[in-house]
Amino acid sequence: MKVRVAINGYGTIGKRVADAVSRQDDMEVVGVTKTKPDFEAKMAIKKGYRLYCAIPENLKLFEDAGVDVEGTVEELIEKADIVVDCSPGKVGAKNKPMYEKAGVKAIFQGGEKKDVAEISFNALANYEKAVGKRYVRVVSCNTTGLVRVLYLLDENFGVEKVRAVMIRRVVDPKEDKKGLVNGITPDPVKLPSHHGPDVQTVLPHINITTVAFKVPTTLMHVHSLNVQLKDKVSEEEVIDVFEKEPRIILVSSDEGFTSTAKIVEWARELRLRYDLFENVIWRDSIAVVGKELYFTQAIHQEAIVVPENVDAIRAMLEMAEKDESIRKTNESLDIGKFKL
Ligand code: NAD
Repeated sequence: MKVRVAINGYGTIGKRVADAVSRQDDMEVVGVTKTKPDFEAKMAIKKGYRLYCAIPENLKLFEDAGVDVEGTVEELIEKADIVVDCSPGKVGAKNKPMYEKAGVKAIFQGGEKKDVAEISFNALANYEKAVGKRYVRVVSCNTTGLVRVLYLLDENFGVEKVRAVMIRRVVDPKEDKKGLVNGITPDPVKLPSHHGPDVQTVLPHINITTVAFKVPTTLMHVHSLNVQLKDKVSEEEVIDVFEKEPRIILVSSDEGFTSTAKIVEWARELRLRYDLFENVIWRDSIAVVGKELYFTQAIHQEAIVVPENVDAIRAMLEMAEKDESIRKTNESLDIGKFKL
């Protein structure tokens, strides 16, 4: 029998999680919610999802617009074994009492504070900690990108300390209410940034300090990492570890990957919505100086957390062991298929 998954908030992350869940042979989407009868609501219905109203007071808006909803979010979660809350940052915490009342398990996203859930999650790093849990937070896009590589480096070589600079896309492509047209914004000005402590919600023992800037692009984030390892390793050894991990793709500037624009152009040929679920690391950026490792990676903010949500469902509902869940998720989403 398939587990029944509800998606509360069919936005940038919610629509991707819905499509990813639909591709699993052990899960089904029982419904998605929207707050308004906009084009995304209509698209959800066209794609075959059962649409529910996230805010009961807005039911009349849907009625007036002739957009058929099956009911309210409360009625949806009654039908679900688990809810993936993909509402905007901090709204998930407001939705939590509803999940508690209904006695349904829930996954929250990285825009929530860590105390919204029992644990903060990344499939590679701490799948086992989510097993059987009621509330789990899948960490943000930047944190997911950092945790994946730091987990692998720590497991293989031991990590002494990490210093990372994040160059962040200012908004997602669909945003037209806010943005940064011209300038580079230290974000935050007061250092360090929150990303280091957020990595420690998953990997508490990692000594990491981060700084971040917002720049006028919508496509991807770029991270420049400096990782001090416990032992001296060669660049080839690092490449070998990254190459073996399906959730990482190595690319090179001599193949034409001169910027995130080129990475996205390549991904447009590969996947629906050019979604890159993998960390994209520039192979030729990998440099070892003494015990210090340097490298640069690009993270597709809209896609990177999607496989993590699928794995969190399996862990919380005790549907599969770590390796089995990751294998199923990777296969269903073609992760690992497009390595160069
Ligand atoms: P979004 O604004 O694209 O989508 C949010 C959706 O939730 C919208 O459809 C909105 O109508 C709906 N919504 C609003 N109020 C609601 C409510 N009370 N109940 C249910 N739904 C409601 O936002 P997003 O970018 O998908 O972000 C969702 C979460 O994912 C946030 O926590 C965010 O921090 C996190 N996240 C976003 C990204 C990213 O790059 N977009 C990456 C990783 C994590």
